[in-house]
Amino acid sequence: MQIPLVDLRANYLSIKKDIDQAIQKNIANQAFIMGSEVAEFEEVFANFNESKFAISVANGTEGIHLALQAIDIKAGDEIITCPTTFIATIEPIFYLGAKAIFVDCEGKTGNIDAKKIEKAITKKTKAIILVHLNGHPCEMNPIMKIVYKYKLKLIEDCSHAHGSSYNGKKVGNFGDIGVFSLFPAKILGAYGDAGIMVTNDMKLMESLKLLRDHGRLSKYEHKIICYNCRLDTLQAAILLAKMPHLKKWIKRRKDISSYYSKHLNSCVSIPPQFQIGEQAFYMYVIRTPNRDGLKEYLAKKGISTVIHYPTPLHLQPACKMLGYKKGSFPNAERYSDTILSLPLYPELKNEQLDFVIDAIKKFFALSDKL
Ligand SMILES: *Cc1c(COP(=O)(O)O)cnc(C)c1O
Repeated sequence: MQIPLVDLRANYLSIKKDIDQAIQKNIANQAFIMGSEVAEFEEVFANFNESKFAISVANGTEGIHLALQAIDIKAGDEIITCPTTFIATIEPIFYLGAKAIFVDCEGKTGNIDAKKIEKAITKKTKAIILVHLNGHPCEMNPIMKIVYKYKLKLIEDCSHAHGSSYNGKKVGNFGDIGVFSLFPAKILGAYGDAGIMVTNDMKLMESLKLLRDHGRLSKYEHKIICYNCRLDTLQAAILLAKMPHLKKWIKRRKDISSYYSKHLNSCVSIPPQFQIGEQAFYMYVIRTPNRDGLKEYLAKKGISTVIHYPTPLHLQPACKMLGYKKGSFPNAERYSDTILSLPLYPELKNEQLDFVIDAIKKFFALSDKL
C-alpha cells in the first residue's frame, strides 16, 4: 500500500463536477482580474471565520507583508515571533527593513512560549507575529495581556489553522490582522498560490484593499504607492467551490487525528489535546526520540511522512545576521529534532489509517526487542 502525506487528487475527484464547472464558468466569462468570484469568496470566507472583513491576496507570504505594512511597520522596528515556523512568517519583516526577534517555543505544541515573550520586549518592539502551529491555537489569554500592556500590534499567521478557535473565538480575530495561506496543500487550498487576510477593523480593511491593488480608489486614481498582489479570479472560483465542504473536511481531519492519538498514545508523544477550543489539524505531528529510524521504516512500507520543519529559523543560513546559534532556543531545536508529520487528509481511508498505525506499532515492537 502507498500512502502519501496528502492526496490532492483524491480531494479533486471528490468534488470534480463543482470544480470543473467553476473553472469553465470563469473561462467563459473571461473575467480573470477581480472578477465577481473574488468578492464572493471573500464574503464566504469572512462568514466562515466569523470576521467582519476578509481581503484576498496573491499568496500567504504577501498577506503577511501587506499586514505588516498596514500596521505601519518601518525599518528598525522589532517584531517578536517564534523560530518553529516556515520562513514565510519572517521574510516580510526583513523586506520592510524591520528585525525579527525570536522567542523560544513551548515544548509540546511548538507554539511561542507566552511566558518568555515579555523578556524579549524592548523600546523598539512594535508587534508580535503568532503562528498557530499545526492548527493548535497559541495561548491567547496571556498573550493578549502582553499585547495590551505594551500597546503592541498583533498579526496572526493562521496558515495552519483554518477553522481553529480559542475560547469560542476563531483564530485570526485576536490580532489586528489574521493571515491564511491558501497554498494547495493547506487545510483550504487553491490550485496555485493564494491567500486571504481577515480583520475586524474597517480602516485596516481599507488599507489592505489599497495595498493589494495599486493603491486604487478607482481604475486610474491611486491614493498611495502600493503594489499588485491580487488573488486570481480563477483561484477564487476554485476556492469558492470548495467552501461548502470545508467544515466537513476539518471534522474528518479531527476524527483521523483522534484515532491516531487513541492508538499511538502508548508508543509516541501524541499532539497535546487542546482543551479550550477547536484545533483544526493541518498536520498530525508526533514526537519521538527515534524519529529518523521511524521515518525510514515507514518509507520502506510505502508511507510518506515529513518533518515540518527540520531546521528552526534561527539556525537557517538566511537568518545568520541575527546572530543566534545552536543552543539559542533549546525547545525549538529539540522540537525540530523529534517531530514527524503523519499522513493526514480528509480522503484518507480507514484501512489506510490502520495500516499506518500498525506499521508504527510494529516499528516500536521491533525496537523494543533490540
Ligand atoms: C504556508 C505558510 C505560509 C505562507 O505561504 P504561501 O506559500 O506564501 O501561501 C506562511 N506561514 C506558514 C506558517 C505557512 O505554513
